[in-house]
Parts: sequence; structure tokens; C-alpha cells
Amino acid sequence: MVTNNNILKNVAVYLRISRDKGENVDTLQSHRERLVRLCEERGYTYTIFEEIISGQARMEAREALNSLLDDLEKYDAVVVTAIDRLSRDLEYSIHIFKRLEKAGIPVITPERIYTEQDFTLYAIESTLAHGEYKQIRKRMLQGKRDKALRGEIVASRPPFGYDSILNKDKKRTFVPNEKAETVRKIFNLAINGYGGKSISDITGKPYKSVQNILRNEAYTGTMIYKDIRVEDAFPAIVDKDTFKKADYAMRERFAGDREQRVRTKGKVRTILKDLVYCDNCGRKISFQLKRREVYEDAMVTKKCECGMPGVKEETLLAEFYAQFYWVELHFREEWQKALDTPLEDKRGNIEGQLTEQTKKQEKLNRRLKNAREMRLDGELSKAEFEEIKTESENELIALSSKIAELNDELSTLDTVKLSQGYQEKLRLIGMIKEELNLPKGKGQLNYTKVEPCTNKEEANRLLKLLIDKIYYFRGIQADAFGNEEEVIKLTIAPK
Ligand SMILES: [Zn+2]
Repeated sequence: MVTNNNILKNVAVYLRISRDKGENVDTLQSHRERLVRLCEERGYTYTIFEEIISGQARMEAREALNSLLDDLEKYDAVVVTAIDRLSRDLEYSIHIFKRLEKAGIPVITPERIYTEQDFTLYAIESTLAHGEYKQIRKRMLQGKRDKALRGEIVASRPPFGYDSILNKDKKRTFVPNEKAETVRKIFNLAINGYGGKSISDITGKPYKSVQNILRNEAYTGTMIYKDIRVEDAFPAIVDKDTFKKADYAMRERFAGDREQRVRTKGKVRTILKDLVYCDNCGRKISFQLKRREVYEDAMVTKKCECGMPGVKEETLLAEFYAQFYWVELHFREEWQKALDTPLEDKRGNIEGQLTEQTKKQEKLNRRLKNAREMRLDGELSKAEFEEIKTESENELIALSSKIAELNDELSTLDTVKLSQGYQEKLRLIGMIKEELNLPKGKGQLNYTKVEPCTNKEEANRLLKLLIDKIYYFRGIQADAFGNEEEVIKLTIAPK
């Protein structure tokens, strides 16, 4: 059916006014002017059909409409002021819509364009009492639900990267198209620590679309309709693991507290941007540019609000480089430990935790139920009840997400997956070493050999993938001999 405005050229304008509703020639004229204006604005050529007759008039009595219907093939569309101008009678409406449908032409009103699918619903809506209409609509929606439950597609449009096709059973389904590659790229970039803005710049998709794509679970092949989820309903573009990782990465960037938001903003002038936190009070330590009088500018950290003194960036970096080897060591050890623990032990451990959490859940539900009864018996005041209710419900929400997490862990429990995770981390470390021009081998570094890093933004992005926080301490400490001296200490917390 033709719905594209650009290819509508020649239209039939149909005007009907009804005597029984007190309309007259003036009404007819004003309707005519409105529709002629619409045609001229949209560049349609038009032929006018008009009559003054009751909306319930028999079909045969409606000469203008009949001659219009007989000549339908000459037109690209029928233009009316409102769709009920065609007919108020259900039987006639259906007859007219069938003719329009067969001719493949839409009905245009000043508000919108009605195509094939709209006709049926409109016919029902316009002729039935409101209550009946609602019933039918409910049944139609129920039909949609049933379809969805069978894993059939009920969405009107496929997501970006998919085409909507009919399969061999004549059921609608989605298949990836050539744009799927862009979708994969977007997920990949998100996992690698790029923010929405950068992803948008790289892929050319608008920022908002990037966000929507990363949130759309349909890309894992999951069909979602309201509260219904059907997995593997059509081919996935990204696997579930990728989706989850991207979701996590983005949530870390966008969601929650202001501090997290601040983390990603601004120009990157140091590779440690947004990574350093006060060891004393936990506040984030920010850097500032300090103009040196003589030759070059230098970065320094600001004094913390709690009083922890600031430090020059170069001193901090030297300490960080000296410590960085430890991060690699940490992941290698963790990996080994994970490999040394038999899978069965791990499974047992997770199952144990699951049982424990489920018990807690049951207990909370019982508590809530008891509180309800006590409230009904007047043993609890409204305020007391509300407090228990809110508290229990919050705990229940936290519990159910914990349980989902554990179940997830259980389902992905295998050595290959586990090793992949650590391999990824170590690969990342390799990349960081390269970016920072650090020596490739293992072991502690001599920072005096370290070349300055050229792409600070890239190094900072990689470091954020690997490191959660770097705790910074500067103060007086006694050494083994009781001599007090000022030390600068960094404690790296890997992700
Ligand atoms: Zn502090």
C-alpha cells in the first residue's frame, strides 16, 4: 500500500455533509476550502466529489461516493476532512475500506494517513459503543500476547540492524542485515570503555540511538513484548555475555551518583584522571594545571578536603609505574587460584550461597506477611507497618538481583570462560604497557627509563578498564628503625 507522501500525486477529494446534523452549504464550502488548501500545500492534483446526504444513507443513494469508488484506480489517495465522512455505518464502512484496500490507496485527513491496517480498527472504533470497542481491543491485545508467548514477532518495526521478513510458515521474524556490523561495533566499543559520545563519533550513529541500541535486549535474539520475554526468538547479533558486559560498562559510566558522571567528563591531561582517591577519606582527588614561572606547565593534585596534602603528577606517576607490575601479578595469581579451585568446589560454593539467599528471601516474605496481618489486627500502626514494608521490599529487591547474579554465575561456570576473563585482563595489561612505553617483561620497573606517554586519553581509558581506584596517601610514617619520614603511598585496587 502506498503511504509515502512523495509518491502521492493525484487525489480524490470527497466531501459529505449531513443535513440531519444541521450542516449546510456553508459547512460544505469551508470543508472544501480546507481540503483544497491541504492539496495545494502538499502539491497534489485533485478532483472534488461532494454531496449533501445523511451519514446513514443507503449506499446506492450516495452518488458522488459511488462514482468516486468506481474511478478509484485513477487516484493515489482519497482526501476527507475526517474519516467518518466516508460512512458512519459499519457495513458500508467495511465495504468502502475493502474497495480502498483492493485499490491499494490510503485515506488522507488533515491529521493523518489511514492505511490498510488502520481501516479495520477504525471501522470497529467508529461504529461500536465505547464499551464494546474496549472489549474488542482487549481481545486483540490478548491475541498479540498469545502470539508473543509463542515467540512470534508483534513489534511493528525491526530494531536497527534487523530486517523484518516472513519465514516459511508465513510468520514474521527478524533477520540481521548489513547494518548488524555497526551494532556489533557499538557493543564492542562500549565493552572497551568508550562512552556514548565517542561511540557516536566513531560509528556515525546519533548519541541517543547508541544508547538505545546498547539497552535493547532484542540484539541477543530475545523477543520482548511488555512483560513477556522469549529467548532465541530470532538470530542474535550479539551474544548475551557481550550484552551484559556492555550494559555493565555503560551503567558504570552513566548511572548513579554524580561522582561517576564526573569521572568521564573533561579533557584528559593525565593518564591517572578520575582514578586517584584519598586513602584517608575516600574522596576523589582531582588534578590541576600549575603554571611554572620558568619553562613548562605541570600538573599537581589538589589538597584533599580532609587535609591530605597534594603532590606533583610526576611524583605520583613514578610511584604508580613502580606499582603497576603488581597489578599484573595480582591477576596472574588470581587466575592461578581460580584454576586451582576445582569447578565442583566452586559450584558447591555458589549453590550454598544460593540456598542461603533463598532462605533469606522466604524469611523476608514471611515477615512481610506477618506485618500485614498485624496491621489488619491493629497491632501495628500505619507508620510502623510502612517502615517494615519499605525496608523488607528494598531488601527483597536487592536479594532477587543477587540471586539472579548467582544463577548467572552458575550457568557460566566453566574453566574456558574463566580463563578467557583473565586472558582479557592480561591482554589489556600488555596494551597498557605498550601505550605507556613500559618494558614488556614482568617485574618491577625503573621509572627513570619510562618515556612520556603520548596518547593520554587512550592510556587513561585502558587503565580505567583495569583499575577501579588508586588510593593515595601522603604523610609521616615511621620506618622499621622508628625514624619518621614523609612517604607517598599508592594502593591500587584492580577491578
Ligand atoms: Zn581526604
